[in-house]
Amino acid sequence: MLSVVPQPISARVPAKVNLHLAVGDLRPDGYHELTTVFQALSLHDTVTVVRAADQHRAEPTVRVSGEGAADVPADTSNLAARAVLALAERYDRIPAVDIAISKDIPVAGGMAGGSADAAAALVATAALWKLDAPRAELLEIAAGLGSDVPFCLLGGTALGVGRGEQLVRVLSRGPFHWVLALAREGLSTPAVFREIDDLRAVGAPPRAGAADDLIAALATGDPHRVAQHLANDLQAAALSLQPGLRRTLRAGVEAGALAGIVSGSGPTCAFLCADGEAAVAVGSELAGAGVCRTVRVASGPVPGAHLLDEQAQG
Ligand code: ATP
Repeated sequence: MLSVVPQPISARVPAKVNLHLAVGDLRPDGYHELTTVFQALSLHDTVTVVRAADQHRAEPTVRVSGEGAADVPADTSNLAARAVLALAERYDRIPAVDIAISKDIPVAGGMAGGSADAAAALVATAALWKLDAPRAELLEIAAGLGSDVPFCLLGGTALGVGRGEQLVRVLSRGPFHWVLALAREGLSTPAVFREIDDLRAVGAPPRAGAADDLIAALATGDPHRVAQHLANDLQAAALSLQPGLRRTLRAGVEAGALAGIVSGSGPTCAFLCADGEAAVAVGSELAGAGVCRTVRVASGPVPGAHLLDEQAQG
């Protein structure tokens, strides 16, 4: 009898940074309207899926390794598992899949790590099941999983509105070179949104406003111009919850970055640099400054979730 060895399929997915993040006021439905410009950066997680030995099992399994693995749930609350369940439901499949996540994106770092894994799980599982799913369909399932998941599928540079899930590509002549300062402790995204509402109730923290100037700067490809227009409404809230991030932001600019910004809900700080050489220099100076847990150098824009090359061709 011929025994068939299940073939694993892997997808790689980038982290995101928000170059512009304008948060509207809290609405009565508990939801904030966002205007954001995302860029996908060359800091990746890899998600591998394989058919489970028991093809009747009703749930996926999850294994997590790498950066911050201990803080990531290894059950069906993991966003990658929820992605497999959503895909199974849409295409009437049994979600008997084993998922292995190798993390390099910081957990709870404001870089959409969980959303990235969901996007990679969608791409990899669609290939495993040979679904031939149209991109638009995957984007729709992605939007149901979380507001950052569609961008993790799309990659590149994009303007997001609504909850951030309605996307339009933005012309961005790159590459842009970034240094990321990873913090010792994470920040909860809902806690950061609550904090901005509280800060707005008692004062007037800065507002990012429209993204037009940033979008025009991205089209020129000039990092000096882009640096002038980085803005994040959540930065005040992240700094209020982790005041030590002020030192990190200052240290990056003193080390030679063109500008520094809290990434999304934080606490990762992202520094835009003039070129790749400058990024390496800023990265090594920041690493020695004792203002963060670790430092990464990355560039963007890069493509969204995609199958690893050899499998895409196989
Ligand atoms: P965002 O930038 O989208 O607001 P984040 O990068 O700050 O998110 P994540 O890394 O996505 O934060 O993690 C937030 C929480 O989500 C974690 O504390 C973890 O409990 C949960 N989570 C669920 N699935 C995953 C996953 N695959 N990877 C990381 N965290 C996950």
